[in-house]
Amino acid sequence: MVKTLGVTGGIGSGKTTVCRMLEALGARVFYADDEAKRIMAEDPAVRAELVDAFGPASYDAAGRLNRAYLAQQVFGDEANVARINAIVHPRVYAAFEQARRRAEADGVPLLVKEAALIFETGGDRHLDAVAVVDAPVEERIRRVAERDGATPGQVRARMAHQLPPEELRRRADFVIENDGDLAHLRRQVERLYRTMTGRQTGAPGTG
Ligand code: ATP
Repeated sequence: MVKTLGVTGGIGSGKTTVCRMLEALGARVFYADDEAKRIMAEDPAVRAELVDAFGPASYDAAGRLNRAYLAQQVFGDEANVARINAIVHPRVYAAFEQARRRAEADGVPLLVKEAALIFETGGDRHLDAVAVVDAPVEERIRRVAERDGATPGQVRARMAHQLPPEELRRRADFVIENDGDLAHLRRQVERLYRTMTGRQTGAPGTG
């Protein structure tokens, strides 16, 4: 049976970096946030429901998703956040279940779901375990500001919408401490992969 692992964490904690390392070890990764974007852009039923809920401005004249407009609709509006989630999340869930069946058929040992929100959407109930990636907050701000060309203030504003790190850590099955260099991170990822799959990682003595 394919094992399933959620990977989450605050902005800039290193989720994507961890997932790339897991992929290199033999896991398959389902990027839930990319999948949600794809579904909003392409799924005709979702398009109809978004237009119904938020109006025709949800898509531009060329039929492309109007992200800026939708971001405005949900910013600081819990009811609208809930509406959009009710439209998109069931489809992301269905896509993940399809990925699970495919991984099973392909003999993949570990299917990873990377998502900025996992506990918030109840996603942890459908996964064997959840790993939370955490890093010192100043380090996260510095890394994201550098990666995205954002100001520290902009990064902090994005952080304010997420569960606090203590809460994530409390709910995690595994905590990955991304507080050192990439080799330090890779050792923890290899240990996690071995624990989840019972397989070796080909780097004896480094765990
Ligand atoms: P987001 O929440 O924005 O999706 P994320 O949690 O996926 O971010 P990453 O994109 O993996 O975080 O990491 C943020 C940035 O920090 C990237 O540019 C990444 O290369 C860098 N980074 C992550 N971990 C380390 C590390 N241990 N040492 C140096 N750089 C790192």
